[in-house]
Amino acid sequence: ERDYIGFATLPEQVHRKSVKRGFDFTLMVVGESGLGKSTLINSLFLGDLYKNRFIPNVEDRIEKTTRIEKKTMDIEEKGVRLRLTVVDTPGFGDAINCEDSWRVCTAYIDEQFRQYFTDESGLNRRNIQDNRVHCCLYFVPPYGHSIRQMDIDLMRRLHRKVNIVLVIGKADCLTQTEIKKLKARILQDLEDNHIQLYQFPDCDSDEDEEFKQQDRELKASIPFAVVGSNVILDIAGKKVRGRQYPWGVVDVENPLHSDFIKLRTMLISTHMQDLKDTTQDVHYENFRAQCISQISQ
Ligand code: GDP
Ligand code: MG
Repeated sequence: ERDYIGFATLPEQVHRKSVKRGFDFTLMVVGESGLGKSTLINSLFLGDLYKNRFIPNVEDRIEKTTRIEKKTMDIEEKGVRLRLTVVDTPGFGDAINCEDSWRVCTAYIDEQFRQYFTDESGLNRRNIQDNRVHCCLYFVPPYGHSIRQMDIDLMRRLHRKVNIVLVIGKADCLTQTEIKKLKARILQDLEDNHIQLYQFPDCDSDEDEEFKQQDRELKASIPFAVVGSNVILDIAGKKVRGRQYPWGVVDVENPLHSDFIKLRTMLISTHMQDLKDTTQDVHYENFRAQCISQISQ
């Protein structure tokens, strides 16, 4: 049973000088209300963090998200420090409408860039806290035949500002065939609409075969079909994070049941540093170039 998060491989992804300082990582979730965003975040990180000191039925803690909620935790694992921030946004449908929703999200991302830009030009440049959004988990519904226009519109506002990782929420209501079909249609629609998701980097040629295979499977799973749950079930003496239905249990961490583990592994132990690098080199550079051209006008 896991009692750790799993980011201690971060130093292998990065130069040693960052290790002493620790790592900042911010993840944002966006999408329609009710798709399981808050539940997934909880399943990904918080459940584990609270596991030993919290009530068994964590489900009770999740309330409808009606405004931006930022949670930061400092966690340390095998001597590696991570300052993890999760930004939960009110999906459209809650309290605010679709238009307000993209404004809230893009304003938040821009504000963090602006702060970083200000800090970078200040005197204390060495100790900047990096609050920029490094990854946006964008949730789309499992029902419907493809991606909706409003999701295309919102993603268009976001894709040049942040790394979008697309997630199909509540995937337990689809069969394997339906998931396959929906994934293919979504990818086609994104391409037709020129929406650019986070590009997973090519695998280094000197990686071992097992790693390469894992990397191929990861890329083949995009967009990730996930199931979240904050209930720990006892299945034949084994503790399982899952959803209990009359006909059986969906085990969130079973790769046959959902892409949950692929998503978590990618976020935490294989691609965190690349998400940070892309944020710095592509998205922040865009922002900075705009600022500078405005100043010089
Ligand atoms: P949010 O509005 O996107 O943050 O959604 P919530 O996390 O608040 O979840 C909304 C409802 O969907 C709650 O009743 C959850 O228990 C349920 N839910 C969350 N994740 C899943 C899932 O993966 N599958 C199913 N079937 N229901 C889910
Ligand atoms: Mg929510």
